[in-house]
This record gives sequence, structure tokens and C-alpha cells, in this order.
Amino acid sequence: MEFSDKVLRWFDAHGRKHLPWQAGKDAYRVWLSEIMLQQTQVTTVIPYFLRFIDRFPDVKALAAAPIDQVLQHWAGLGYYARAHRLHACAQQVVNQHAGKFPEDLNGLMALPGVGRSTAGAILALAMEHRGVILDGNVKRVLARYAAIDHPTGSSAFERELWDRAETLTPWVRAGDYAQAMMDLGATLCKRHTPQCLICPVMEACKARAEGAPADYPKAARSKKLPYVERSGLVILDAEGRVLLERRPPLGLWAGLYSFPESEFTQEMDIHNAWQAWLPHNTSMQKMDYFEHTFSHYRLRMNLWKVVVQSLTLIADKDCLWYDFRSQEAPGMPAPISRYLQQGAWPLGKK
Ligand code: SF4
Repeated sequence: MEFSDKVLRWFDAHGRKHLPWQAGKDAYRVWLSEIMLQQTQVTTVIPYFLRFIDRFPDVKALAAAPIDQVLQHWAGLGYYARAHRLHACAQQVVNQHAGKFPEDLNGLMALPGVGRSTAGAILALAMEHRGVILDGNVKRVLARYAAIDHPTGSSAFERELWDRAETLTPWVRAGDYAQAMMDLGATLCKRHTPQCLICPVMEACKARAEGAPADYPKAARSKKLPYVERSGLVILDAEGRVLLERRPPLGLWAGLYSFPESEFTQEMDIHNAWQAWLPHNTSMQKMDYFEHTFSHYRLRMNLWKVVVQSLTLIADKDCLWYDFRSQEAPGMPAPISRYLQQGAWPLGKK
């Protein structure tokens, strides 16, 4: 029996067939789920997906929405560049394709944020074409099945995986096969504890035969992440509201609201840099810090508390006063939102 036959037979008995984006084989829902599932697990994505679909039920609704609302519904999923590309993609589908996703690989890959695997997933899962997918789960299954020992992320690793994926994908039931491979990776061929004894492809799996399947995929050559230190200014008014500044449209946390930020770490330097913002003789109090790891560096954000009676917002800054106890939250990076929700500040403990 061929590899795909075994996988499909297993899928018929054990595969996931009731995920919210599977209903109706709709390209918009499949595309949205694929973007959300990049870097994020199914159980985390489901509530975000449902809220998103409720607010933006189709690609036209998403394209017409202000980016602020999109970011607000995305906040917490991280990797915010995805939300910006999602919005740009929806607008391109509406403006250039009359609201319908293209039905060919190149047309899909020309859309913002749609890579080869996402395009393959849309073709296979929504359009019943032969689309080839290679997300993180599928990579792990194939790397083990074929005992590919190139390091993860290397071009040789990617090339060999795509060759395998292209060869093994069947011409019939490509949608079920794509879902089956994702399910196999998520539920059986787990990162640390592969369940080889009940795996449908165990007999021919090279990593299992070698006796240490969890050793695959081989780790990428380790790189030490640089450490970046920044200062965030937590400006509070007499009512306990906090001032948030919208970040630039490109780069880290693009377009989200965060604490006004500085690259300086010493009080005098920070004060000098923010002179234009703050009333004369305003005192600052170092209160706390948080750390966050991005793919390319680790951030330490030192927080400085400043209480002001009044503050004239600078005209060229995009700011708002936010009362986290009673107002609906604007789109904020998850670490900022988490920090505000901790409740240890601003009126007492810090
Ligand atoms: S036999 Fe084990 S290692 Fe191989 S694909 Fe199945 S679960 Fe993964």
C-alpha cells in the first residue's frame, strides 16, 4: 500500500473533520486559518478564528475594515506583520480578483503573505485541487519518515522536504491528504513523544527504524540571540489612565498601541529625550521591566512611571489615553496587554 493510502485510511478513522474552518470548504476561511496557524497551535487559534469570522465574515468585510479593528482582533496571536499582510491580501483579492481567491498556485502565491505551503493548503482544502503543503507538522513527519539529517532551516533541508512532499502527495483526495498529514504531525508524530506504535506509516519510517525518532528533525545550528534593552514610559494621569502611543506602520508591533519608548536606559538621558513631552520638573520612577523573546533578539523593556496632572499631546504623535479598567482595549502587543492586565499597577503596588 502506498504512503498516501495508509495516511488516508488513518485519516478516515482518526482525522479531524470538524474544525471551524473546515465547514463549507471556503477559501476565505481556509486562508484565514492557515495564516493564523503559522506559529500558533490549533487550540489557541480556534477562539481567535471564531471571533474574527464573527466580525469579518468574508473577504470583503475584512478588506473594508480599518486596520485598527483587524489588529484589535488579532492582538494576542503575535507576529503582527501577519495581520498587516492579511489585511493587504484581503484588499488585493477584492480589488484585483473581484473578491475571489485565484485558483492556481502562482496566482495565490502572488498575494501578500501567501507562501507556497499556504497556497497549497488553499488549493487542496478549499478547491479540491492537488495542492502540496509543508507546514511545521508535515515537515516533522517527513523529516522523520525519510530520516533527513540536514539541519532544520537549511536550504538542503527545505529542498529535500519539498521534493518528498511533491512526490508523496496523491492526485486524488489531496484535501483529505493535506489535512491528514497535518493531523498526523499534531496528534501522533509529536515533537517530543512520537506515537510510532500506532502510526500508519511506521513500517517504512526510517527514523523509527533507527530507534530515536525524536532526534529528527535535526536541530538548527544554534545562534545566540542578541539582547536589546529599551525604556518604556508609563505616563499616568490623575485618573489612573495610561498614555499609549501608536507604533510606526512598519517594523516591530507595527500599528499597535504601546508605551512611548526610548532607546536610552539612564534616567537623565530618558528625561532629556522626552523633555518635549513632559511638564518641567516631572519626576520619573523606575518601576519594573518585562522581557520578550522575538525570533531575532531578546527584548528587555524597562518601565518608568510618570504621573502628570495634564499633558498636551504632541500633534505629530498618534496617542490616546487608555483606562484599562473600563475601556475596550485598542490593538496592543501581547506583552503590553498582559502587563496592563496584571493589575499590580498603576495605583498602588509598583
Ligand atoms: S513512525 Fe513515528 S517517527 Fe515515524 S512518522 Fe510515525 S510517529 Fe513519526
